[in-house]
Amino acid sequence: MNAVLKESNRFRTLFDRLQTRVHALALTSAEERADKIRRLLKATLEARPAILAAAHKELRVNETDVDAQLLMIKSEAEFITRNLAVWMAPQPVQGSLMTLGKKCYIRYEPKGVVLHLSTWNAPIAEAFVMAYGAIAAGCTFVLKPSELAPHSAQVLADICAKVLPEDELAVVNGGADVATELLQLPFNHIFYIGGHQVGRIVMRAAAEHFATVTLEMGGKNPVIVDASADLDEAGRKIAWGRVANAGQVCLAPDYALVHASIVDAFVAALARHMTAMYNADGRGFQRSPDLPRIVNRRHFDRIKALLDDALDKGAKLEFGGDTDADDLYIAPTILTSVTEDMRIMQEEIFGPILCVLPFNEREEAIATIRRRPKPLGAYIFAKDRAAIDWFMARTTSGSLVVNHNLIQSGTNPHLPFGGVNASGIGRVGGRATFLECSNARSVVEDQYPAGDPNIMFPPYSDKYKKMIAQMLAKEIRVPDAAIDLINGIIKLTSVFKRR
Ligand code: NAD
Repeated sequence: MNAVLKESNRFRTLFDRLQTRVHALALTSAEERADKIRRLLKATLEARPAILAAAHKELRVNETDVDAQLLMIKSEAEFITRNLAVWMAPQPVQGSLMTLGKKCYIRYEPKGVVLHLSTWNAPIAEAFVMAYGAIAAGCTFVLKPSELAPHSAQVLADICAKVLPEDELAVVNGGADVATELLQLPFNHIFYIGGHQVGRIVMRAAAEHFATVTLEMGGKNPVIVDASADLDEAGRKIAWGRVANAGQVCLAPDYALVHASIVDAFVAALARHMTAMYNADGRGFQRSPDLPRIVNRRHFDRIKALLDDALDKGAKLEFGGDTDADDLYIAPTILTSVTEDMRIMQEEIFGPILCVLPFNEREEAIATIRRRPKPLGAYIFAKDRAAIDWFMARTTSGSLVVNHNLIQSGTNPHLPFGGVNASGIGRVGGRATFLECSNARSVVEDQYPAGDPNIMFPPYSDKYKKMIAQMLAKEIRVPDAAIDLINGIIKLTSVFKRR
């Protein structure tokens, strides 16, 4: 049974058991792994009341938004279980001149014991996307949920304990101290979701054991609003993207670069839609049942400090700005006249505040983006195709959405999710999580020796030396079809030779 483990020395024992179990799991079929994922999903959906209650206590998230999270993992589980047999099957690769007569393919094998240090803003989805991928790959898995979402963490522990033995899937609850102890163990792969500071700690710890890592971090996601954009659409979608989950979404637009000719109209559209979504009845944003709260006092103080610093340094409050520390409430807020010296333009906001910056020349917008680390997500609003292509070609990010935002995650399992450098390393979702947890083992089987099988061994013959010299001298270019044909002939000849 999963227990909330308290003693540091118990992690080693747990780890050893997980490591032993991996050998048996490596031999399991796609159907056996799929069955585990289906059972986990079923137990999760059955725990919906507890999940809703936990999300409400932690972030005051409404039922529909939590259901959207459940839908995300349901489609993830269904996609994996439908495709796993194909992903697990040995994948033949094209032969080459140097492997004539040999069979070449890739086998996907479990990396081993996987650790996941998860976070709190969508704790159920963030836990299970990684868990499903690890189970699909045949790995054993340790989940350390975030201590900032303790109710969800307990629900996760209960669900997992109900479905799988602890030596396959263990939930270890606790904070940084527990994470630190876990990081000392020789995990084979580590998933981490969170900020940069801890991301560095995780990467350093992984280096100690040469563990591979998938880091899902954040940063300042830009949204570009071109002069050709449909302003009302842009305002509506960006108001939603910025304020959903009270801005506590890694992909949320953090600042908007808006063509100077439309800044006023854009700000007005944004404010109009923020109001329509969260204060349509005029009773105040704070009373909206759809506007969550900031996760805790530390994060509230952090966001409030960013706002105060910006206002002190001359930012203009265009909309919102109300805060209530006792209620952990921050109103949807729009700032203009922001400058580079303000902390709000240096740190990820992770709250419902959008900074709007004007640009006259496109190059100015690009320069603002390039002064910052590569973002997780970027957004372009434009009707002009040439403008979309221009901005797309001159920016980089983990993902890009044109004329919308936030919709690149959890919506299409064929689109892997992740960042670039400071915003993340590696990809998750759909087959990507399976691949992160798998060792893509290259296999060569020497089946039907072609020509003189001893030619490559010393003492080297003149014929061999000449062959190497010829290959060095010119481009080696044999069409795949010719390789396939020669391989077929070799196979046929060797079958006859054997008779
Ligand atoms: P965090 O870094 O404080 O915590 C995340 C995990 O790290 C928790 O499990 C925590 O216990 C652990 N941890 C904390 N301190 C640690 C330490 N000293 N050593 C080892 N482990 C430690 O999380 P946060 O910064 O509050 O999360 C918000 C950040 O996460 C934002 O930057 C956001 O953009 C990012 N995020 C990214 C994604 C994504 O998928 N890319 C998703 C959600 C959030």
